[in-house]
Amino acid sequence: MQDRNAEPPATATSPHEEESEERFDRLVRALPLGVMMLDERARVTFANPAAAAIFTFDRQRVLGQHVIEPISSLDLERRVEDALAGEASLGPLILTGKGGNRTYAISVYPLTEGGGLSQDHEAVQGALILAEDQTELVAMERARQEFLSNVSHELRTPLSSAKLMLETVIAAPDDEAREIFLPQVLGQVDRLSALVQKLVEQARAQSGDVPLKLERVDLKSVVLPIVRSFAQQAEAKSVDLTLEDEANPRVDVDRDRIGQVVVNLIDNALRYTDPDGAVTVKLSTDKDEAVVTVADSGIGIPFKDLPHIFERFYVVDRSRAREVSGAGLGLAIVKQIIDAHKGSVSVESRLGRGTKFVCRLPLVAP
Ligand code: ADP
Repeated sequence: MQDRNAEPPATATSPHEEESEERFDRLVRALPLGVMMLDERARVTFANPAAAAIFTFDRQRVLGQHVIEPISSLDLERRVEDALAGEASLGPLILTGKGGNRTYAISVYPLTEGGGLSQDHEAVQGALILAEDQTELVAMERARQEFLSNVSHELRTPLSSAKLMLETVIAAPDDEAREIFLPQVLGQVDRLSALVQKLVEQARAQSGDVPLKLERVDLKSVVLPIVRSFAQQAEAKSVDLTLEDEANPRVDVDRDRIGQVVVNLIDNALRYTDPDGAVTVKLSTDKDEAVVTVADSGIGIPFKDLPHIFERFYVVDRSRAREVSGAGLGLAIVKQIIDAHKGSVSVESRLGRGTKFVCRLPLVAP
C-alpha cells in the first residue's frame, strides 16, 4: 500500500524542480559554449545550438550518431574513449571547418549514471564535451608574439649599427670619419625615437582614456613643419617631397596627435618609394570635410593586404621592401587617431605604381 503522506518518489519532479530544469535547459541552449552529451557508446544524446554552430552540424540529425560522424577528428575520438574509460581531458584542438582552421579548447569529462561528472571511476555512463572557440584568442597571442619579436628586432638593429659607427669614429677621430658616420648615427637615432614614439602612442591608445586636447588650428600650420622636417630624408633618397596647399582647412583637433598621423604617413611613403619617386602631401576641402592626402609613387600594396593594413601589428611581406618595415603599428595609430577625431581614413594602391592615403576630418562650421 502506498502511503499518501509520504514524499513523492524521487523520479517525479515537483513544479519547482520543473521550473528550474526548464531554466537550466534555457541556459544550456543560450550558452556561447558548445555542450554535447554522449552515451556510453559515444553516441550523441544532446547537443546545444552553440555546439552545432561550432562544429557545423544539424542538431536534430546528429542525435544517435557516433561522435566521429559530426566531428571527424581522431584526436577528439581518442579523448572521448579516454573519458568513457573514466579519464577527463582538456586541451586545444585544431579543426578545419568551412572558415578554415579554427582552434577550440575542448574538455571531455566522464559522466556517471546520475548524470554527474564521474569521480573515482564510478560507473561511467557517457561523456560530456565542452567546446569553446579560441581562434581569435590564439590569433591575438600569435600577433603579440610576432610583435615582440618585430619590436626587439627594430630596436636592436639601429642600436647596434649606431654603436658600430660610433666605435669607428672613436677609433679614427678624423674629420672624414666624423662626416661620414655621425649623420648616419643621427639617422639611426631618429629611427629609434620614431619607433619609441609609435610604441608610446599605441600604449596611450590602448589604455583608452587619453582625452584629445582639442584646439582650433589651420591644418597648414600642423603639416608644413612636418613636411619640412622630412626634407633632408627625402633629399637623401632623391625623392621629391612636396606640399600642395589647395586649401588651408580649419579644424578642431589635437595638434600633436594629428601631427603623428602625418608623420606616420609621410614616413611610410618615403620608406616605400624608390629613388627618383615622388611623395605629395595635399591639403584640400570637400564639402564639410578637411582632406589630407599623402600620395606616393612607390611600390604599392598588394590587393589582398589592403583590407588589413590598418590592423595592429600587420606588416605586408617583409621580403618585398628593401627598407625594413616596422612593427606594423604606424597605420593602426593613424586610424585610431583619425577615428577619435570622428574622421575617416582610406587607402588606394596599385602595385608598382604607388599608394594614396586620404584622411578626412570634420571642418569647423563657417
Ligand atoms: P610599420 O609601422 O611597420 O610601417 P604600418 O602600419 O605603418 O607598419 O604599415 C603596415 C604595412 O603597410 C607595412 O608593412 C607596409 O608594407 C605597408 N605600407 C604602409 N604604407 C605604405 C606605402 N605608402 N606604400 C607601400 N606599402 C605601405
